[in-house]
Amino acid sequence: MAQARIIDGKVHAEALRARVAVEVARLKADHGLQPGLAVILVGDDPASRIYVRAKNEQSLAAGMHSVTHTLSAEASQDEVVALVRTLNDDAAIHGILVQLPLPPAIDANAVLEALDPDKDVDGLTVVNAGRLAAGRAALTPCTPLGCLILLRETLGDLTGLHAVVVGRSVLVGRPAAQLLLGADCTVTMAHSKTRDLAALCRQGDILLAAVGRPGMVRGDWIKPGAAVIDVGINRVPFRDPHLAALGKTKVVGDVAFKEASQVAGWITPVPGGVGLMTVACLLDNTVTAAKRLHGLAADSNRIVRR
Ligand code: NAP
Repeated sequence: MAQARIIDGKVHAEALRARVAVEVARLKADHGLQPGLAVILVGDDPASRIYVRAKNEQSLAAGMHSVTHTLSAEASQDEVVALVRTLNDDAAIHGILVQLPLPPAIDANAVLEALDPDKDVDGLTVVNAGRLAAGRAALTPCTPLGCLILLRETLGDLTGLHAVVVGRSVLVGRPAAQLLLGADCTVTMAHSKTRDLAALCRQGDILLAAVGRPGMVRGDWIKPGAAVIDVGINRVPFRDPHLAALGKTKVVGDVAFKEASQVAGWITPVPGGVGLMTVACLLDNTVTAAKRLHGLAADSNRIVRR
């Protein structure tokens, strides 16, 4: 039986970061412009700390200006909003990212809506969601943008392909569907209320799963030869009872990888797939924001129209 080819997130993310570094160097040399990213971390969630450190290290490695503002878990909503407004007015900062989740006492939507949409490099403000839905130039959420770049770099032109997106979150499913539509796919969105999900998935030339349920998409849900993009990041105990007894966990996707790879033409692994693209896309969005804020033309040869 044929084996799907792996879409290697590491290779694509490294290539994107290298393109970003070249563009940063060009902006510095030609325009004296150094793209700057500010990340706001509230509280001490260990996973968030790891993500924020990676964002900081990778932006510095690409030659960007990068600052992290760490506030205590007891910080008030007003304090966080005041910091966002200060960064909105800071000419050295072109991208602002508020690391989610925020502590429960803070209304994340209120904080996000305080962001200058032109510096909203996570693409989570209503203004950017509206721009994307209207087919206008937007800052696009990083994970779905990473999915689109993987697909374009793997399959080339996506015109006319049927893309089935499972999941309709504001963070992943909805913007992924909009981006696929922008790439001239025919798009079907599925969610927890969809009837006969397996039959629907089997229609997809592209199947993108962003659900948060380990191994939900089975091999027989996949159209032979389809490109499968697995966004899911799920922590599950090891099957080995010794490791499980030690409380050890591993990360798996929303797709049952082994059986899916017997049917799909292309597939992203978890880990090693989409997840690696997210930070690279954040850097790319920061460069895009810096250029737009300075009235510089966006590249005409972008891999993904946005
Ligand atoms: P989310 O906000 O919880 O949304 C999950 C979506 O899946 C919802 O639209 C839900 O439908 C749908 N769903 C749930 N159960 C379903 C079922 N049985 N059948 C069909 N649809 C179902 O999650 P998210 O933020 O989009 O994240 C999804 C996954 O991607 C998670 O595993 C997350 O960890 C991962 N993720 C990865 C990255 C990355 O960098 N790779 C970034 C973000 C998220 P309803 O709307 O009907 O409830």
